[in-house]
Amino acid sequence: MEKNYRAELVGVFGDPVDGNPTGVMEEAAFAACGLNYRYLTLKVTKDDFDDAMKAIHAFHMRGMNLTMPHKISVLPYLDEISEAARIIGAVNTIVVKDGKLFGENTDGKGFVQALNNSGVSPEGKRIVILGAGGAAKAIAVECALAGAGMITVMNRTAERAQELAGVLRAHTKTEALAAAFPARAAIPEDTDILINATCIGLHPDSGQKPDIDYDTVRAGMVVSDVVFNPAETLFLQEAAKRGAKTVNGLGMLACQGALNFTLWTGVEAPLDVMEDTLRREFEQ
Ligand code: NDP
Repeated sequence: MEKNYRAELVGVFGDPVDGNPTGVMEEAAFAACGLNYRYLTLKVTKDDFDDAMKAIHAFHMRGMNLTMPHKISVLPYLDEISEAARIIGAVNTIVVKDGKLFGENTDGKGFVQALNNSGVSPEGKRIVILGAGGAAKAIAVECALAGAGMITVMNRTAERAQELAGVLRAHTKTEALAAAFPARAAIPEDTDILINATCIGLHPDSGQKPDIDYDTVRAGMVVSDVVFNPAETLFLQEAAKRGAKTVNGLGMLACQGALNFTLWTGVEAPLDVMEDTLRREFEQ
């Protein structure tokens, strides 16, 4: 049999991108599965984005991740887009199929997968989301598509919360509300799932936590954080002290990476390898 020395290429375009940990977990997963794939972490400025998109075809790449500032500007380059990515209005993953570019958003899907892996389903649940940025929108849309009963969006900038609630009402069957996010915000008693989808608590600001009244977090709630470094944020620690079940952002990141891995390779992802790799990476 002829040898093939050519690696299959995937990666990420972003700016800034130096601190993006995705390549470490994807490379570990390729190695664990014996796949000759390489994940390239590439700095691509807004001005160079068009050239970078042409390179996907020129290098016969299998796919790509997109991070800031390219998740929206990629839309005109795509041949097809998933329903969730269309509603979210942003794409973080491209899969190349027969030279055509398919756009997906795996941020929210990774979140729902991590919840499911903890034995929790969003179906019929009353969910409160802190934040209304890109992560919040992806999570809210996927939870709604998974049958969430009610989603309340609380955000520092009220207009963004209203806009996200409006998107949910327009495109999904889930009831959606925007609520104020005052200091020491009380979490409604009937909340089933509380999610921090802001960047508060992310390394190196791991001493911070969202300004809510933690005594309104109940033992029956599931509390989740998108912040993945540190994995056990102060937000989750405070919730755990009140007896809530916690689901961390590291699991979400690994699940999102695993979904991308399978989209690109067609192979089941070694989720445990990916999660362990991230954990080791952040402990350094
Ligand atoms: P955005 O910049 O789009 O949104 C940030 C959100 O946080 C906004 O709602 C913003 O409110 C809010 N916020 C920021 N600072 C404060 C503050 N001091 N007080 C109150 N609210 C605040 O960011 P993203 O949505 O893209 O990312 C958010 C986090 O999600 C990041 O930490 C990112 O690393 C993480 N993430 C994790 C993933 C995972 O797999 N675990 C995947 C994707 C993202 P306002 O609108 O008022 O500015």
